[in-house]
Amino acid sequence: MASQPTNLHFVLFPLMAQGHMIPMVDMARLLAERGSMVTIVASPVNSNRFRSVIKRAAEAKLKIQILELQLPLAEVGLPEGCENFDLLPSPALGVNMVLAMNMLEEPAEKMVRGLCPSPSCIISDAGFPWTNDIAKRLKIPRVVFYGPGCFPLLCMHIATNTSILDEVDSDSKYFVMPGLPDRIEVTKPQAWTWGKGDTKESTALFERMQEANKDAIGIVVNSFEELEPKYVEELAKAKDKKVWCIGPVSLSNKSFQDRAERGDKGAINGHDCLKWLDSRESGSVIYVCLGSLSYASTEQAIELGLGLESSNIPFLWFIRKTSEEFEAWLSKEGYEERIRGRGLMVRGWAPQILILSHQAIGGFVTHCGWNSTLEGISSGIPMVTWPQFAEQFLNERFIIDVLKIGVKIGVEVSVLFTQIGESKEIINRDGVKEAIQALMKNDEEGEARRKRCRELVLKAKRATEEAEGGSSHRNITSMIQAVTEELISLQN
Ligand code: UDP
Repeated sequence: MASQPTNLHFVLFPLMAQGHMIPMVDMARLLAERGSMVTIVASPVNSNRFRSVIKRAAEAKLKIQILELQLPLAEVGLPEGCENFDLLPSPALGVNMVLAMNMLEEPAEKMVRGLCPSPSCIISDAGFPWTNDIAKRLKIPRVVFYGPGCFPLLCMHIATNTSILDEVDSDSKYFVMPGLPDRIEVTKPQAWTWGKGDTKESTALFERMQEANKDAIGIVVNSFEELEPKYVEELAKAKDKKVWCIGPVSLSNKSFQDRAERGDKGAINGHDCLKWLDSRESGSVIYVCLGSLSYASTEQAIELGLGLESSNIPFLWFIRKTSEEFEAWLSKEGYEERIRGRGLMVRGWAPQILILSHQAIGGFVTHCGWNSTLEGISSGIPMVTWPQFAEQFLNERFIIDVLKIGVKIGVEVSVLFTQIGESKEIINRDGVKEAIQALMKNDEEGEARRKRCRELVLKAKRATEEAEGGSSHRNITSMIQAVTEELISLQN
């Protein structure tokens, strides 16, 4: 990788949720590959999850480090070690995490001021609006990272900044989202997402975020221009900001180890699931994973299991969070015996990008988190969509209506973050079976979907390649340039 020597020192503040930390650590590596120094600020438990990836990057002579900042857990009533949204004993405690996040300004500033060489730019998750004040006091530019792509960000911007949601009088009625380049129909709760918050604390945080983010010099997005050109342009106009699409950042994980340990140590050794995949025919297996926060309730997990079984399609099902009732059902039914040979269940963290890039994978049942969506796209895998909360219904619309590379599982009711795992809407086994069979079928529609996926993979790869003059590669260059110029102007 030809690096462009810079004297910049980027300080990255990732939100303590895997869907935000993972892409930011990739982003850190991409910036370090350009010759910049990068410091990632994370709490000890989060830092530990990325230790081996950062160690390898440092061994490859990249100037990258993680510094630890302790979260004030006891002060907000969170148990020790509960340093990430995926470690909360209950999603209702998300509010306490927000309180802890808001208390980091002072220790973070102390840490940033002590850095050598002194920092030249803060790239902050949108969830830390106080980094704006630190950047101002240090006279350095701040770039903001939200997490989702330009399509969902634009939809959220419209939902938050127009009166459209007040004009819709029913939660179940579909309406056309105004001001979008495509015709997109959603319900009010699906569009509401986390744009305005769902508790007093989160609403206050979102208001503060909106204000702080006005000062950012630009928005860095894990996406690529060729994926959503009209939405990149419209988002930049709507926010009146530079938008740098620098992804898919997952493609920066080149080595087997980096892909196997992205986000955490993947649960592959004990299960030998890669060997199992090696023994399957190309494109024959459907991979199921619901991200780092969502999980199926016991009833939903049972219906999913029965649907997968009756589809007669080989499947690899990763379960991050299980319940005693579900485990009891599995053993009473002898489910894992019944599916042996055709299906494999693994409990733990999926090495997702390693699995998605395996030749045996032909489909992905996803909860439509933005990262999973983009990882499916950059692996050329069509998707069965099962959105649950946040902007996931918008991402579903993107997969189904804009890109036309998926089949809906058929859920319509969005839940709040605090209700994860309590969805009132239970998917049913026949719906699961039908969606999976439709996705994996070799009919005209299935072929057309797969063709579109193959085209997108090529575009995704090209975007990240320097030799191809890729748009994401160029955008990193122009972000570095903009930061350099802004820094000079702020410090003179
Ligand atoms: N992920 C993973 N293994 C898992 C679950 C999740 O590697 O078992 C990764 C996934 O590849 C993605 C991130 O965690 O990069 C989840 O982000 P996403 O936006 O898809 O969903 P969220 O977890 O934020 O709802």
